[in-house]
Amino acid sequence: MLADYAVKVEQSRGRRHAEPQHPYRNDFERDRDRVIHARAFRRLEAKTQVFSRRYSDHFRNRLTHTLEVAQISRTIAAQLGLNVDLVEALALVHDIGHPPFGHAGETVLNAVMQRHGFFFDHNLHALRIVEDFELRYAAFRGLNLTFEVREGIIKHSHDYSAREHPELAEYLLDKRPPLEAQLIDWTDEIAYSIADLDDGYEAHLLTLDSVCENVPRFADFYRAAETAWPEAIEKLKFNEALKHLLNAFVGDLIENTKRQIQNTGIHTVEQVRNFPLRLTGFGVEKEKDRRATKEFLFENLYLNPALEPEKNNAERIIGELFEFWMEHPTKLPSSYQEKVEEEPLPRVICDYIAGMTDHYIHEQYEKYCA
Ligand code: MG
Repeated sequence: MLADYAVKVEQSRGRRHAEPQHPYRNDFERDRDRVIHARAFRRLEAKTQVFSRRYSDHFRNRLTHTLEVAQISRTIAAQLGLNVDLVEALALVHDIGHPPFGHAGETVLNAVMQRHGFFFDHNLHALRIVEDFELRYAAFRGLNLTFEVREGIIKHSHDYSAREHPELAEYLLDKRPPLEAQLIDWTDEIAYSIADLDDGYEAHLLTLDSVCENVPRFADFYRAAETAWPEAIEKLKFNEALKHLLNAFVGDLIENTKRQIQNTGIHTVEQVRNFPLRLTGFGVEKEKDRRATKEFLFENLYLNPALEPEKNNAERIIGELFEFWMEHPTKLPSSYQEKVEEEPLPRVICDYIAGMTDHYIHEQYEKYCA
C-alpha cells in the first residue's frame, strides 16, 4: 500500500544500538510505542498548550494537542500512501521538547538562556530527551529510536544550518526530510488552529462574529449549518462549521501535496530528500486562508490581554528559578548537579526546567522563590 516515495521500514538507517527484531512489531511501530511509554510523553498532559487550567479542564493541553496531530497526520498519510507508522511516531514525539507554560515558556527560557550566552530550542531539546534523558533500558541511555524518527524530530518544522549545528551533521542537513516528516509541520498547524478557534470561542475570547468575519470560509460553513439545523444552539453550529473548516484544510493538503509530487515526477525517498523544496503544503488559495486564520488567531487570541497573566507567570517563575539555581547550584537535584561536570550550568538548569510540568515548576517556585 505504500507509495514509491514513502519511507520503507526495511530501508531504515537503523538504531544507534543494534537490537533484535520484534516478532510482530516493525521498527517504526516500536518507536511509536517507545514514545507513548516515555515519561516525557506523560508529562505533556500537565503542560499548557495555549490555555492554562485556570480556564477549563476541557481545553487542549500539550498531550491532547499531540493526539489530535497524530489523528490528522494518520488520515493524511494514509491518503498519500506514506508510512503511517513513521508519521504516527513523529506526530506523537513532535512536542515532547516543550517546556512548561506553552509558547510563553519557550520564549522566556530562550531569552534567559541568551542572557547567559546560550539558547533554547524545543526540537533540539526533544532530541536530547529521546537520546539521553529517558532512562528505560539497561543497555543504553535514551530510547534508541531509528534514524528516521530522530531526523524527523530535528527537521520536521525547519532546516538547521550545518555550519551553525555541526553536532547535527549526521541528519543530512543539506537535504529535505522525507514526506512523513514534512507533513507534521502542516498537521501541527491545522490541529492547533482548529483547536484554538474552538477553545478561544468557548473561553469567550473569540466571538462568533469575529470568527465569521476574519476566518476564510468559516461564515459559509456556519450559514450552511444554520440552514441545516436552524433550531440548534450556536455552539453546535459553530462545531459543525469548524468541522468543515478542518476538513477543507485536510482535503486541500492531501490534494495539493499529491499534485506537487506528480508535477515534480518524484518517485523515491532519495528524490524527495534531494529536491530543493519541501513538497507538502496547501494550494495557493488555501495557503492564503491558512495565513489569514493564523493572523486572526495571533491578533485576537495569542496576543489577547486576557492571556497576559499566564505570560507574566512564565516570565517571573522561569526567570527567577533559573537565576536562583545559577546562584545556588547545590539546590539542584543531585542527578543534575552531577551533570554540571560535563555541561555548562545554564544548560543543565535549562534541561531541568524544560522537562517540568506547569504544576511542578509552580511547586519549585513556591519552595525556592516565594
Ligand atoms: Mg505542536
